[in-house]
Amino acid sequence: MGSQNGPLYPPPCPFPSRILPEDANWKQELREAFTQPEALLQSLGLDPRLAAPAAARQFPFLVPRSFARLMIPGDPDDPLLRQVLPLAAELEEHPGYSSDPVGDAQSRRGTGLLRKYQGRALLLVTGACALHCRYCFRRHFPYARDTLVHDHDQGTLTLLAADPGITEVVLSGGDPLMLDDERLAALIDRLTAIAHLRRLRLHTRLPVVLPSRITPSLLALLSASRLPIALVIHANHAREVRGDAVRSALGALEATGATLLNQSVLLRGVNADAASLADLSEVLFTAGVLPYYLHLLDPVAGAAHFEVPLAEARAIMARLRTDLPGYLVPKLVREMPGGAYKEPCG
Ligand code: SF4
Repeated sequence: MGSQNGPLYPPPCPFPSRILPEDANWKQELREAFTQPEALLQSLGLDPRLAAPAAARQFPFLVPRSFARLMIPGDPDDPLLRQVLPLAAELEEHPGYSSDPVGDAQSRRGTGLLRKYQGRALLLVTGACALHCRYCFRRHFPYARDTLVHDHDQGTLTLLAADPGITEVVLSGGDPLMLDDERLAALIDRLTAIAHLRRLRLHTRLPVVLPSRITPSLLALLSASRLPIALVIHANHAREVRGDAVRSALGALEATGATLLNQSVLLRGVNADAASLADLSEVLFTAGVLPYYLHLLDPVAGAAHFEVPLAEARAIMARLRTDLPGYLVPKLVREMPGGAYKEPCG
């Protein structure tokens, strides 16, 4: 089952024509990213027929070459490849799987503004990402009309400023670091001017999948923020974090004073065993990042083949608690539409 409204997920943001020299690398990398699964499979020495073109038409394929280089050539079951490869299984319908599994529509309060939990507001600043995860819970989200970039009268920020009950803003998307520094700086400036905000949180996969995005000007921007910053990255497998470029990007982010946390999704064929998750926690810690959440899969249409049943997830967690110190064990949670918080699952 696909989107009811056709493929609304947009391609990466068209960048302004003026590109600063230090931004050239990551933007060039994005331009050179794989956009056809067959090309990635061929580069790995795999049969291009492993990909399902119909699935890629529903949710476009996008993988930066730096991320592709972390995959093991010749292995169709590589856990990094599994996260991005469009499969025929995505076209199957499954009861309970929908286009809005976490109730984003009912939480909408303005253009690109979601309110789910007390004290916090989520801003969908862009629909663009550097890599398209096949299990993405927003793979059907109508980004083409509902992100902050469409808020031309800036009513969303006025709403935030008028609500003293909001103390933390989460920049999400899409990926907020897909905004270039100029736009990010302008947004952070406006948020910083809201006196009742105490924290800023960024949910981003870019330090992991496109570490060249962590430029000196981005680091300066984050360092200068009046608001303390929590930076929640997204890695599911140790190999995503082990490389020098990612570790160096994370080290530089840590040096800005930001608190670094990681969220993962428990995914069949990727990390659904205690050894893989323990390895991930160990590697994250050496890179200055603490494990935060391990999400049960959100039941988004097209991703049922990634599901790990709750009983199996709990058994994995029990093993993790045995094998790791408590501070390296992520919280197993799931998001229920309308829930007051992410539900702890064991
Ligand atoms: S990076 Fe996040 S928002 Fe982007 S496709 Fe992956 S899961 Fe979805």
